[in-house]
Order: sequence, then structure tokens, then C-alpha cells
Amino acid sequence: MKLKIENLSKRYGAFDALKPTSLDVAEGEFLTLLGPSGSGKTTLLTMIAGLTPPNSGEIYINGRRATNEPAFYRDIGMVFQNYALFPHLSIAENLAFPLRMRKMPEADIRDRVKSMLEIISLPHVAERVPKELSGGQQQRVALARAMVYRPSIVLMDEPLGALDKNLREQMQIEIKHLHKRLKTTIIYVTHDQEEALAMSDRICLMNGGEIEQLAPPNEIYDRPSTVFAANFIGQSNIMAAGEVSDASGNVTPMQAGTRLMVRPEYVRVNADVVPAHHRTEATFIERINIGPTTRYFFKSASDRVLSALVLNAQAPHDIENGQRCILSWAASRSVEIKDVGT
Ligand code: ATP
Repeated sequence: MKLKIENLSKRYGAFDALKPTSLDVAEGEFLTLLGPSGSGKTTLLTMIAGLTPPNSGEIYINGRRATNEPAFYRDIGMVFQNYALFPHLSIAENLAFPLRMRKMPEADIRDRVKSMLEIISLPHVAERVPKELSGGQQQRVALARAMVYRPSIVLMDEPLGALDKNLREQMQIEIKHLHKRLKTTIIYVTHDQEEALAMSDRICLMNGGEIEQLAPPNEIYDRPSTVFAANFIGQSNIMAAGEVSDASGNVTPMQAGTRLMVRPEYVRVNADVVPAHHRTEATFIERINIGPTTRYFFKSASDRVLSALVLNAQAPHDIENGQRCILSWAASRSVEIKDVGT
């Protein structure tokens, strides 16, 4: 195990920024800490880095107890939103810096810097200073600098937060590429669920200083364990007991304290209901066209907003505001989730 965290916690006064938390990160894994503002992501990350002392618990890096080790000895690289390159040093010297700190021989430094510049497709900027590069290029250099000395683990705290959407998507690909090439273990903080879904081997969803769910992106999307997880990642339809029935009208049984969730892309509007389907009745309130798809919005019996995402080519016609509609979906797409964590 590359990183092992046992019952790690942090309090500020009477406030639990991180409740006792345990987590294992495998060698070469890309793990994302995802969660709303204030959920404890940065607190956990800075404790791993050795920048914030924990109140309790242990941190093991490569099996070595690192809980009280100073940051410098932990063999951890870090990348932040503001790339913090040294402005007066050339790009090559920026990349060489962590290697010089570690007293690597000059010839090896030259080779390592050259190959790193090739990996990030910027061999031509070696002699420039940071301000002669675009924001995206500077962030690429910052990523390379955090990885150039092959640290055991690289921590990234919202590294793409300052970039516009297009550049951010390009950089996501760039980071995945670096991850693949260098096989570094990466712990990545973001509050952007799409970024987490696109990049991670596993997502650690945080809520109120605790882990809400820890699972690969597909699993967390298809089988969120709580209402909070279902709402934070993707769009969801949440239904209460008694609101869902099968094709013959028998109410679907549900356990106490749970809800039924289905993603909007599985929901059909006024379509023929086949035996293996679940269905619910709802009142149509609005439609919004987004390029090739249309989202239909409804009010459920318990006054929740439900939605169906439909390709325009398959759109139901002639629905009027206030009309009662049958929403249906394959029963296998329904997930029973706990009504906690909201
Ligand atoms: P964001 O996405 O906004 O960065 P986060 O999930 O990273 O949020 P943290 O920065 O870990 O959240 O903060 C968790 C909680 O701990 C917040 O409520 C924050 O106000 C509190 N907190 C963090 N640092 C301190 C501090 N030095 N003193 C007091 N409270 C703090």
C-alpha cells in the first residue's frame, strides 16, 4: 500500500474539519478527493503533505510511519492552483530545482529535465522564463516540476481551478497522460464532479468532514449509496416509498429510511411500459432544449422535481404544462439509496 491513513482527524476549536478517517491508496492509483466547499478535502491533503498536524491517527507512506515526519522527508510532490514557478529562473532551471535540492549529478539532471520537457510537449521553451509562457503552459511546467524527482506521491489541490473550461479539459488529458507515463500515485482535490468522473481510478466523496462514499467513478455514478452522493455526482431523480410501482400497478417495496433513485437518461416519458419496468406518475412543468437533447421536468407526488433526459429524435410530443405523465424506466436502473447525508 502506497499510503495508509488510520483514524486521522483534525479539529479547529470545537469544529471537526476532518472526523476520524481511514483510507488506503494503492501504488500508482489516481484518487480524487471530491466534495463541496468546507468538506475537509484540503485539510486531509495538507495532513498527508505534513503541512497540518493531525489531532489523532496515523499516516503510513510505503509502509513507513510518517505521521510526525516533517514535510520535506515525506517524498511528496505538490501542485496548487497558483502554479508558483520561480519567476526569475528559466523553465529548465525550474524543473532542475527539485533535483538540485536532492543533489542529483548534473548530467542526470540535464537528461531528466530534457525528457520531462518532451513528456509535456514543451521542449522549445527550456530557456524561457515563466512569464513568457501561457497560463496553461505554466501549469504544465508546474505539474512536471512536482513529478520530475519521481516522488512517491503527488498531491494536487484544484490545480486547474484557475483555467477556463477548454484549457481545463486539455489539462485533464495532460495530467492523465503524465500519470500513465510516470505511474505516479496521485491524490487530486477538486469540487468539480465531471473532472472527478473523468480522471479518477477511485473517487473519495467527502461531506461534512467524513467520507460519504469511496468507489470507482462508474460505481459511484451507477450506485450512489446516499441521497447526498446521488445529488452531488450527476443528475438524479429521488422518489419516496409508495411513489413507484411496477407495470401492473403493484407498489415497489422499499426499506424504511431509503429512497429510490434513477438517472434522468434512463427515464422515458409516456412510453409503453413493459413488465420489467418501474413507473411513477408526475406532472409536466417545463422542457429545456440543450443541443441534441431535451430535459423534461416534472413534479412528483411528494413535490420533488423529477427529470427525463431525452434525445430530440425520441422526444415525446404534445405534452402540455400541468399534464399528468407516466415516467418509466427499466427496473434494473433503479437504485435504493439511504436518505442520509443531505
Ligand atoms: P474548499 O473546497 O473550499 O477548499 P475543503 O473541502 O478543502 O473546502 P477544508 O479547507 O479542508 O475544506 O476545510 C474544512 C473546514 O475546516 C472548513 O469549514 C474550514 O472553515 C475549516 N478550517 C480549515 N482550516 C482552518 C483553520 N486553520 N482554522 C479554523 N478552521 C479551519
